[in-house]
Formats: sequence, structure tokens, C-alpha cells
Amino acid sequence: MRHKFTITISDVKGSRHYTIDDILKRVVAIFLILIALLFAGGVIYITVLNHKVGQLDIKKDELQNELNDKIAYYEVIKSKIEEIESIIGIAHEEDENITHEARLSNITLTTVQQSLLLQFIPNGAVTTHNGISDKFGMRKHPIKMTNEFHSGLDFRTPLQTPIYAPALGIVEYAGYSDSGYGSLVIVDHGFGFKSYYAHLDRKMLVKVGQFVKKGDHIANSGNTGLSSGPHLHYEVRFLGRALNPINFVNWNLNDFSQIFEKETNVQWDSLLEVMSILLANKQNPQ
Ligand SMILES: [Zn+2]
Repeated sequence: MRHKFTITISDVKGSRHYTIDDILKRVVAIFLILIALLFAGGVIYITVLNHKVGQLDIKKDELQNELNDKIAYYEVIKSKIEEIESIIGIAHEEDENITHEARLSNITLTTVQQSLLLQFIPNGAVTTHNGISDKFGMRKHPIKMTNEFHSGLDFRTPLQTPIYAPALGIVEYAGYSDSGYGSLVIVDHGFGFKSYYAHLDRKMLVKVGQFVKKGDHIANSGNTGLSSGPHLHYEVRFLGRALNPINFVNWNLNDFSQIFEKETNVQWDSLLEVMSILLANKQNPQ
């Protein structure tokens, strides 16, 4: 005969006997019911999740469309800003840190006026160089060894270094000068301003009468004329009078007003007034 464990539970109602089989059956039954409940719960849960995922997909598509619209809109604005920047001559920097708000705030009417002025009057670097070898003003001439006025700025440049026009203008002279300048280019920028480039390479790149714009490659540096070594002698003249070119070299949109205080030989106020009239006419053609 098989041995059976019997568990007896006694309470006020009396005693009940349970065999191990009974208990096992109950445990299994409870276990199965729990599994079934879990399964049913899982199915319901998955169904609900599926539904939510479906809704999210729809939402995602909507957001994606909205995003695409925004990107397209952003691209239009971006290209418009670039267009305006190029019209008014602000160099567009590929710098992600510069926000479009900052770029837009740069495009003010004043900036447009300023940019216009910077198209006409010499400004910025005319060449790459290895330093300034001689400043504007009185100095001892390196060849004549006499004290005399140096009417320009000397940039130490290797031979054949490109020289770029610092503003638009017309070539007034392009050839060899016996005055000591050697190969010389003179650009007339109008409004009384001219720029001189001396000791150039003998081969001229521009012709008299040719119009040039800011940034055009107008000559190559050399070592011609009264020159003690390869360099560019750069002059800015106003009504025939040599001005200190350094103020013009350092002049740009970011440091715009400085020159008005440093270069007092030009009546800047009246020039700015003329520029603003030019601009007003440009905006509202009569
Ligand atoms: Zn010089």
C-alpha cells in the first residue's frame, strides 16, 4: 500500500484532512489560472500598446511633415539671407555658431549704407604679406639715405604675390614709371580717392581704362624701381594728397567708424550723406 501524507487542519469547525495530491492539484490549478490571467492581461496590454504605437506613428508622420515644412521654410530664409549678404557685400561665414538672428540683425539699413561705402572707398587688405617694412610718414630713405616723407605703406611680400583692388574703380595708370615707383598701377576710385601700387612685377595684369571691383586681382608684387627688396608700396590718395593707408587697411564693417576719427582729411559726413542719397534712390527709383 502507498504511503500518503495527510495534512490535518483543525479549527473551531472541526478537522479537515488534505492529502499531498489534493494540495498539488489545487496549487497547479491556481498556477494555471494565474498563467491564464497573465496571458489574457498580456494580450490586452499588447493590444493597447499596438493601438498606441499606431497613434504614435500617425503623430510621427504629422510631426515629420511639419518638420519638413519648417526645414523647407528655413532653407528659403537662409538663401534669402545669403542673397542679401552678397548684395550688400557682407562676407558669409560658414560658422554654425552664428545664429540667423545675429546675421539678420547685421543686415540693417545702416549696414547697407556702410557696405555701399566699402564698395567705393579703399578698405581692407590689398595683399598677403610678411609684415610692414616701412610705415607712412617721415623716414630715412633706404636707398637715398636721406630723410624724406614716405607717402605709402610698405608690405614685405615675396615676388609675384597677388594684389587685389580694395574697392571698385577705374585703372588710371598701368605701366613703368621713372619716378622711382617702378612698375606702377593707379586706380581711381572716384569721390576723390586713388590708390597706388608700386614696385610691381613688370607684367601688367590690367589696362588703363579698365574698371575693377573690390577683390579683383590687379597686379603681382615685384622689386622694380627704387626698391631695396621685394615689397609692395601701397598709397591711398585723396585729392592728390597721400593719406595714411593703415587706416584704410584696418577699415571694415566690424570696425567701421574708427577711420572717421583717425583720418580727418576727408569730410566723411558729407560723403556719408551722399551715400545715403544714392541708396535711397536705389531703393525707390523715381
Ligand atoms: Zn614705400
